[in-house]
Amino acid sequence: MTAPTNDALLAEVRAWLSTHWDRATMEGPCSVSRSPERTAFLEKVVAAGWAVPTWPAEWHGRSLPVEQARLIERAFAEVGAPGAGQDRLNLWVNTAFTYARPEFKAKIVPALLTDSVGMCLLYSEPGAGSDLAAVRTRADRQGDHFVVNGQKVWTSYAATADYGMLLARTDWDVPKHRGLSFFFLPMKQPGIEVRPLRQITDEAQFNEVFITDAVVSADNLLGELNGGWKVLQTGLAYERSLMGEDARGPRSGAPNPEGDSALIELAREAGRLGDPAMRQDIARVTSYRVLNRLNTARAKADLAQGTSSSIMSLGKLAMSRILHEEARLRTALLGAESLLEGPEHPRAEDANFLTLNAYFTSIGGGTDQIQRNIIAERVLGLPKEIEVDRDVPFRQVRSGTVPRKPA
Ligand SMILES: Cc1cc2nc3c(=O)[nH]c(=O)nc-3n(C[C@H](O)[C@H](O)[C@H](O)COP(=O)(O)OP(=O)(O)OC[C@H]3O[C@@H](n4cnc5c(N)ncnc54)[C@H](O)[C@@H]3O)c2cc1C
Repeated sequence: MTAPTNDALLAEVRAWLSTHWDRATMEGPCSVSRSPERTAFLEKVVAAGWAVPTWPAEWHGRSLPVEQARLIERAFAEVGAPGAGQDRLNLWVNTAFTYARPEFKAKIVPALLTDSVGMCLLYSEPGAGSDLAAVRTRADRQGDHFVVNGQKVWTSYAATADYGMLLARTDWDVPKHRGLSFFFLPMKQPGIEVRPLRQITDEAQFNEVFITDAVVSADNLLGELNGGWKVLQTGLAYERSLMGEDARGPRSGAPNPEGDSALIELAREAGRLGDPAMRQDIARVTSYRVLNRLNTARAKADLAQGTSSSIMSLGKLAMSRILHEEARLRTALLGAESLLEGPEHPRAEDANFLTLNAYFTSIGGGTDQIQRNIIAERVLGLPKEIEVDRDVPFRQVRSGTVPRKPA
């Protein structure tokens, strides 16, 4: 089938939106994750082929080129409608689409596209964060399923998740990167205990997850047995791309999450719009934002070609720097007012929240230092960091804890 012209495609998507989307009544309920209204609308988006337009028709797409898929995304964004651009933005569905086995893929892909299942990432452990190849949660094969034992930590949204994307060790006799497998682990089962943790922002999305004899079907394995490291790289690339592109704005929901014009407004209110040093600081952080947008577009083009681009690391690192710098400038502009708290001081609340929440981007999804290592090695071609345990069978790597084998 030949691709439509851009004009014909835009006319089609806009006509579809005007029939199915009423911003005034639908935007509120559809912005709530997994609300019935959102799922009902997303089902229509998926059926129309707008959710993942670059995918083939048998997978809810239209086999369109990336540039046309972005036109659809922009048309949805113009009217505030959700659901488009998932072939670029939905880390869960892209990982499942690339690596899930046929039967499980047929079940999970529509559920993920319609936001009808909750998800979490079961990667980090008390002894494995930056070095994810060191995970010690184990998955032991027993017939047609695996039995999982171990502990994960910093697991965002585990309490509401139906599935966790799990990285677990399936072979202890090979070096650390080669004995890992990747699963969609059902979270609502007796062997999984989720304990909430409170974050620096006083929110509690984080959790510890204790896994004792939990069961996962062999059908839920993504990629090859012991090939989990490769699957993880795809998942991480999507995660870093998202974190490099976007970040939470002020908790108050104040408009302008982009930050730069909020800074100009604050400078005006503080009478410092004429201050050359402040003007330079605001110009610098605004330039970072613009450069990062361009760089992110380049990284996404790479990802669309199937490359898990190291440029994602550059974007994520840049966003971390932008968020910390914007928060610092907000605080400087408010001066002593930034010491205040409470709803009657919304400017200070926003500045303080943004200061604390900037760490989400500089730690989550791999720390700034780790992104620098990746850029050094994979973009700049500098020598690899020394890793003494890289080629040692994992069983021989020294560590304090080894999860128990299943009963
Ligand atoms: C907001 C948020 C959400 C998160 N959500 C999830 C989630 O949903 N699921 C999940 O699995 N994890 C999640 N994490 C965990 C996150 O991925 C880890 O915290 C992160 O990868 C760092 O691991 P760590 O905490 O074990 O620190 P460590 O790896 O112990 O690192 C400690 C310090 O040492 C530095 N360091 C470590 N190794 C190197 C090195 N080789 N070179 C230079 N410096 C190094 C690090 O940069 C860091 O400063 C989340 C974290 C945050 C902050």
